[in-house]
Amino acid sequence: MSVLLIALHEAVICASHLPNHNTSKIHVDNGANIMASSNSKSTKETARKIFKILLTNPRIKVSWVKTHAGNIDNERADQLAKDATQHGQPYSHTELPKPHIKGLLRKRVLEEWQTSWKNGDTGRKIYNIMPSVSLRPTNWIREDVIFFSQRGPFPAYLKRFHLSDSDYCSGGIGTALHYATECI
Ligand SMILES: [Zn+2]
Repeated sequence: MSVLLIALHEAVICASHLPNHNTSKIHVDNGANIMASSNSKSTKETARKIFKILLTNPRIKVSWVKTHAGNIDNERADQLAKDATQHGQPYSHTELPKPHIKGLLRKRVLEEWQTSWKNGDTGRKIYNIMPSVSLRPTNWIREDVIFFSQRGPFPAYLKRFHLSDSDYCSGGIGTALHYATECI
């Protein structure tokens, strides 16, 4: 959303709170904002809000001034805006665009997921192979999953789940690694 549109919105709100006998004149150096705010059907929500306030407060006038034309108040506003970027408080009433909020939430969710994946106590064999969480699929084939998770027809696995009495394969403990590296 346009920062200038937010500023104009704040200005008209401020002017609308002034005593009724005051006439306010707001000078804007961005013509597009005036155009947006003079249209009740504007796609910009802030522009429609501005339009509504102006409609119910005819004593507030908005006019356009040429920028950088030596207008003292315009120069002053520019200077205040520059100061605000360095010393001002963050503006908290901004309506952030949906994709931006989605991005923030996705980041937060991934951070939380990463923390619980790092500190958890299940799936540690997979953790050793894939310490980082990701929303992208890994494209492991069935055999990859069986080997890396070590959940498959291995004696070590079968014994753990009481499906077999022995975890022994000829010559060693029947783990996935045993089958891959030592088993005859
Ligand atoms: Zn073996």
